[in-house]
Amino acid sequence: MSDRIVTATAADGSFSVVAGITTELVRETQMRHELSPTVSAALGRLVTAAALLGASLKGRERLSLQVASDGPVRGMTADVSLSSPSALGVRGYARAPQADLPLNARGKFDVARMVGAGHLQVTRSFEVGQPYVGIVPLRTGEIGEDVAGYLADSEQIPSVVALGVLADPGGIKAAGGVIAQVMPGADERTIATLEHAASAMQPITAQIAAGATAEELATSLAENLDLRPTREYDIAFACRCSRERVEVALLGLGRDELLKISREEHGTEAICEFCKHRYVLTPDDIEGLIGRLSSQTPAAGR
Ligand code: ZN
Repeated sequence: MSDRIVTATAADGSFSVVAGITTELVRETQMRHELSPTVSAALGRLVTAAALLGASLKGRERLSLQVASDGPVRGMTADVSLSSPSALGVRGYARAPQADLPLNARGKFDVARMVGAGHLQVTRSFEVGQPYVGIVPLRTGEIGEDVAGYLADSEQIPSVVALGVLADPGGIKAAGGVIAQVMPGADERTIATLEHAASAMQPITAQIAAGATAEELATSLAENLDLRPTREYDIAFACRCSRERVEVALLGLGRDELLKISREEHGTEAICEFCKHRYVLTPDDIEGLIGRLSSQTPAAGR
């Protein structure tokens, strides 16, 4: 089953829910980066959070989540953008993809210790104007609570966030999540009802492993709250890197450095940190770039 996200609002408009299955997204992230089991769980939750928050994007807006922390994983990044009006492209990487830890005392992946203490930075880039950047301290390092902390502290939106990745030695079995946000002006009773539902909800991974759909995940959090579906999105791993971007970066090195790469180093290669795609540039390719530099007028050449 392919990954999907749905959004819904309560009939009276007091809160909204976004819920989704991200099993394939997390599986592809794990395979591209050869993530250890514990980092699969940690980065899997972060890319799932990015996918869910991506449902609020419009047009060419982008959203990125960056964890900077002192645990063995040393930091992680995930970002999301719309690849069409009804599809979201998500990508992510970890600084130490192979770091691993034993299961914690409850027999779960020790994501909190893998992540450690630090900060979560959320950057929302708009089509025009300055990006919005919010930074909050990590609450637990479990990612779900940290994203909830960001939404509460930085965006002033009381939220329930549940993210889960189920994996075994054979790979990623299930992944997904739910974010419920209370709308401004919602009464205390709505917040209390939602908190009660969240604490009574079956674990996300158990629901997905049992075959729950995105809609069923949303309903499990808001059982007695009369949800109305609003939008839905397909989700896929997608990177924005390209050979052209690599070439532009190389052109920025200037003629002397390019000559050195071509004649002394016999070419170069660049590996995208998000998707691991390898761009190989032969000496002939580099000479071609030098030709492009030479053909520019001095005033335009940089
Ligand atoms: Zn890439």
